[in-house]
Amino acid sequence: MTQLQIQKFRSNLLAWYNQNKRDLPWRKNKDPYSIWLSEIMLQQTTVKTVIPYYERFLKKFPTLQSLAKATEHDYLNLWQGLGYYNRIRNFHRASLIIKKDSLIPATKKELIQLPGLGDYTASAIASIAFNEPVAVVDGNVMRVLARLFAYDKEITSKEAKKFFAEKSQEILEVKSPGDFNQAMMELGATVCTPHNPTCYLCPVNSFCEGLKKESVEKFPVKAKKITYKNEEYFCEIHIRKNKILLRQRLSDEIMQGLWELPLILTYTKNIPIDIKPIRHSIMNKRMLIYPKIFENSKKKSSEKWVPLTDLKNYPLTTVSRKILKLIPNLWT
Ligand code: SF4
Repeated sequence: MTQLQIQKFRSNLLAWYNQNKRDLPWRKNKDPYSIWLSEIMLQQTTVKTVIPYYERFLKKFPTLQSLAKATEHDYLNLWQGLGYYNRIRNFHRASLIIKKDSLIPATKKELIQLPGLGDYTASAIASIAFNEPVAVVDGNVMRVLARLFAYDKEITSKEAKKFFAEKSQEILEVKSPGDFNQAMMELGATVCTPHNPTCYLCPVNSFCEGLKKESVEKFPVKAKKITYKNEEYFCEIHIRKNKILLRQRLSDEIMQGLWELPLILTYTKNIPIDIKPIRHSIMNKRMLIYPKIFENSKKKSSEKWVPLTDLKNYPLTTVSRKILKLIPNLWT
């Protein structure tokens, strides 16, 4: 694109964004703490899922200082079900570091030094909260750029990353970088969608090489899909005197610190079950889980008997919550 075309591109995109942006809670102010929270919650998670989590979290921890005082139990309890628990652990670690100076750093260069902040999140906070002219590149932006420039290299290659970083910075509107970045992401999320993009509604369709070539869905070019591993598990539900046995995940396991019903990998077929089996996917694993209730069970070491009335205060793994919801009258 020539400089003139880039200017036109920016003004078309920003005008469209101002008229069409979704009314999302984190767009109501420029508070860096709440923008930071929204950005980490939105990683790998949909907007619809994030909104209630975001609102509950801010109600309980409205400032970085209040988060810094939180216990692991408290913040995991608010995060349970969102997954990728390192996001909140790192956010908490960062809050402890910043608490000493009491101000969130205002530049990408400083932000990126904090735990859990990569190029994308640091750029998003710096541009949206502090107006620093740095471009953001997330999955939505990559898709828009790949189609706009009909870029045909594999999207995760080193070469592609360099291309996206350079192009996004070249077209960035430096006078309002926060809005421009959000407009690019919004375009990818609502118009330039992975399937059936609505190009006739796109404010920058006159600049789109993919559209000119009538091949928008060819872009971005992606490597082969990951293969899934199927596994079957028993899930033990030990209940005794209105208490249930839970196990806390250890520090060398994923989702460390969360509580769960004990899961045991099985190779047995034709398993007798108490409740219908449930399906659950995590990373590249597809799990089929057979829950089995043991009443008047004996306590096992390293596990804990939790009163059923207290269950809602425990941060549980998603799969355990799914199973417990199937047992009638268990949650009070
Ligand atoms: Fe995406 Fe279509 Fe717009 Fe091109 S014209 S950027 S493919 S929505």
